[in-house]
Amino acid sequence: MEFINFDDMDLGRKQRILIVEDVRLNAQILVNVLQDDYDLRVASNGREALEMVKQQMPDLILLDIIMPEMDGYAVCAELQNKPETRDIPILFLTALEGDENEAYGLELGAMDYIRKPFNVPIVKTKIRNHLELKRYKDILKRDSRIDGLTRIPNRRRFDEAFAEERKRALRSKVPLSILMIDLDLFKAYNDTYGHLQGDDVLKLVAKTLYNSLQRPGDLVARWGGEEFVALLPDTTSEGAMRVGESLRKAVHDLKIPHEASTVSEFLTISIGVATSKENDPESYEDLLKRADEAIYRAKDHGRNVVIGYDD
Ligand code: GH3
Ligand code: MG
Ligand code: MG
Ligand code: MG
Repeated sequence: MEFINFDDMDLGRKQRILIVEDVRLNAQILVNVLQDDYDLRVASNGREALEMVKQQMPDLILLDIIMPEMDGYAVCAELQNKPETRDIPILFLTALEGDENEAYGLELGAMDYIRKPFNVPIVKTKIRNHLELKRYKDILKRDSRIDGLTRIPNRRRFDEAFAEERKRALRSKVPLSILMIDLDLFKAYNDTYGHLQGDDVLKLVAKTLYNSLQRPGDLVARWGGEEFVALLPDTTSEGAMRVGESLRKAVHDLKIPHEASTVSEFLTISIGVATSKENDPESYEDLLKRADEAIYRAKDHGRNVVIGYDD
């Protein structure tokens, strides 16, 4: 289940610094200075550093320039090349003299320099400032992709995931399915029980949908208002119909009283399903439109149903 990792964004956790330095003594000085305040890891060459980044994202990297095998510039360039590592701030550790080298590193995407031999107060201050900035950026990134009310991914997050999954599905010629999910007669619910209770219901439904999607890669987001959307990579229309049915049932099983509903005594949802066709590139493009179309049919069919576009 794709989701934003709240643990990793935990404001209380110690921030992680990866120290990359081939000279043991230099690395040890940094460890001594920083170990009380940060979660530290040490790599002694560039390759090892990239391997460690893959295992766990650091919040900041202290990167020596001259190292055997793979130098700091190459490590920096490689990290800057990948979207998932591009935002890790890099501070070069340098004994090199001259502005030319500093400019080159900054051009590669490094944030700053720390000079050797180390001046401890400067080291501490620079690192603290850059990590503070990193924390604010993380908060912004998290909050701009999470729906404020329900705390599940929002439409922006969905759009990003959809763009990526669509590319992947098209490339590997596998089906991609979308579920549009709409609460039935929700205006009437608000009119009966009040908008605040309506909000609580939206939160509960969001959590239920989220918990009902089991596969890694699946994503559910709030589309807006009383509508949600689920992205099911590598899922056939039969599979998507089954998932839709389990979501429909999970919400009905909440047994949320809805006395104004003409469909059931409880709150219900309608779901429109659309699946791409492996041999039709166009079908990856208008998935959302077809899922939306399917949901209209679901409403016409009396609601509390799952309808596939091809039905
Ligand atoms: P249908 O079964 O045809 O979907 O009927 P509906 O009443 O659900 O659809 P309609 O589009 O007419 O109304 C949607 C309602 O959802 C309008 C609004 O009262 C409610 N709604 C949208 N966003 C929110 C929200 O954030 N909080 C609450 N409490 N209600 C919301
Ligand atoms: Mg060195
Ligand atoms: Mg609606
Ligand atoms: Mg509705």
